[in-house]
Amino acid sequence: MNPNLKCSCTAHAAMQPVALAEALLGVQCGDCQGMVMAMDDWRAWKVAHPNRVPHEVDDEVIEVFDLAAVRHCPACDRLMQRLRVSAGPDFRIDRCVACQNLWFDQGEWRALVSRGLADRLDELLSDGWQRRLQTEEVREARVAALRRRYGDDCIDELDRIRGWLDTQPHRDELLALLRAD
Ligand SMILES: [Zn+2]
Repeated sequence: MNPNLKCSCTAHAAMQPVALAEALLGVQCGDCQGMVMAMDDWRAWKVAHPNRVPHEVDDEVIEVFDLAAVRHCPACDRLMQRLRVSAGPDFRIDRCVACQNLWFDQGEWRALVSRGLADRLDELLSDGWQRRLQTEEVREARVAALRRRYGDDCIDELDRIRGWLDTQPHRDELLALLRAD
């Protein structure tokens, strides 16, 4: 990782080397505490130390992440791509497709480590993972809309009936009976 990078935060502070794990270095902004890590460095680290546990870097745990900020790559200034870590809008990391750099806002690396994801970044960045979370988000949004429309009691009861129906050997006949006049 180039240690002479300037952070893209408003302070444009110089970035300092930071150890994300034993033998895995990134750089960190002294102002916003954001960090950049090269995916190549991560891959080399992963191959050399498959069982090594990443460090939880950060001074404090931040519960709420920066949602709106658009991130520019500190190395090339291109717009970074937002990637889902989990379903919902609250946890995304940024990637520069050109440089293969990852950006972690303050608290995000620690959150990845605590969820056991810091050594599974290749999975997390895969199309399959991103697609699965997108599908999950669409499904959750649909359920939320149904709950707003019909009320929690109604949807809970529907879930209960569906759960019971799924245990019945004659499920389809029972459903047909329900629909019959
Ligand atoms: Zn870049």
